[in-house]
Amino acid sequence: MLQLVEPEALRGPLLAWFDRCRGDLPWRRAEDPYEILVAEIMLQQTRSEVVATRYQGFLDRFPGVDALVEAPVEAVEAAWSGLGYYRRARNLHRAARILAGRGTLPASAAEWAELPGIGAYTSALLASRCCGESSPVLDGNVERVLSRFLASTEPPRRAAARRKLLGTAARLLDASRPGDSNQALMEVGSLVCRRGKPDCGACPLAPGCRAFRSPELDPRDFPAPGPRRDREVRHCFTAVVRRGDELLLHRRPGDADWLAGRWHLPTVELASGEESIRAAEALGREFGGCWECDEPAVLVRHAVTYRDFLVRAAVARWRPVCTTVESNGDRVPSGRSSLAWFGHGEIDGLPTSSLLRKTLDSVGVNRADPPIHSGP
Ligand code: SF4
Repeated sequence: MLQLVEPEALRGPLLAWFDRCRGDLPWRRAEDPYEILVAEIMLQQTRSEVVATRYQGFLDRFPGVDALVEAPVEAVEAAWSGLGYYRRARNLHRAARILAGRGTLPASAAEWAELPGIGAYTSALLASRCCGESSPVLDGNVERVLSRFLASTEPPRRAAARRKLLGTAARLLDASRPGDSNQALMEVGSLVCRRGKPDCGACPLAPGCRAFRSPELDPRDFPAPGPRRDREVRHCFTAVVRRGDELLLHRRPGDADWLAGRWHLPTVELASGEESIRAAEALGREFGGCWECDEPAVLVRHAVTYRDFLVRAAVARWRPVCTTVESNGDRVPSGRSSLAWFGHGEIDGLPTSSLLRKTLDSVGVNRADPPIHSGP
């Protein structure tokens, strides 16, 4: 019969391995709760290699809660440039204001979870690192490690499987260093128990790992795959309007379901196959003013998680006040305040997205090109 070492007996070896082998990342060493908070928000949806290039610069610019609170949110978003998902920057700014108002740090996962942008995973991790709370966490890496450790045949996102994995994660936590225990499990997933190539010989959990210790099992068969999410296709039209060396950009609403809060080219969603003339009408309805779009538009493909954006983009002209009188007697409204002109030197400091660069490249408009007069 298979003899497996209990998780509790692996706490020490797991921490010893972490002390020896942890990656040299600045947030691993951080002890200041503010610095930990910044790192964990950045790491929510951005790879650690990218965070590593931005983290220290952000802390230099905003070394503490007070500096963040005093800064306008636009400055925080600009410092977030390159990390994507700018909603996190706005939430971090709001969280800093709440913390400054309270005057004390949250004392538990439940209190951390009251701050904007902090869900179950981040609150548990922050509580373990900043408050010494034995709150286990499950990220994608830990799900894989523990699915293999238990040889779990259920997809890890199912509620029953999650409960089991969290229970095992809790048994692996050392109450004297819960934050390090959580980080150690994540690090095992990133360095040792890799997706296609687990290095079981180097793993501190090997003595208790069912998938490794059972001769009939292959760790690579775990975790069990979950149901595939259907991809969603979105059809859009984007207008590239220039005035001298300036570009017309639109600040997308903070609650938009893509590119929320970011500056982007004026874009409308259209049904598949609608012509540019319909796009001009839709742009007028959405942003006001009169729009004329060149033909043909070029197709830009952009994938974000489970969504495929098929964006037709064209050089366009825009007049903010249209003289056309609609049938109801109203003038078409002039451009909305969320539209603004930016010189190319200014755009680099704005929260934008890779889709902006991709679209400009596809249309053949380089921000350093000679001026095209397509706006008023
Ligand atoms: S022993 Fe192998 S499969 Fe099990 S947790 Fe470690 S690396 Fe993963």
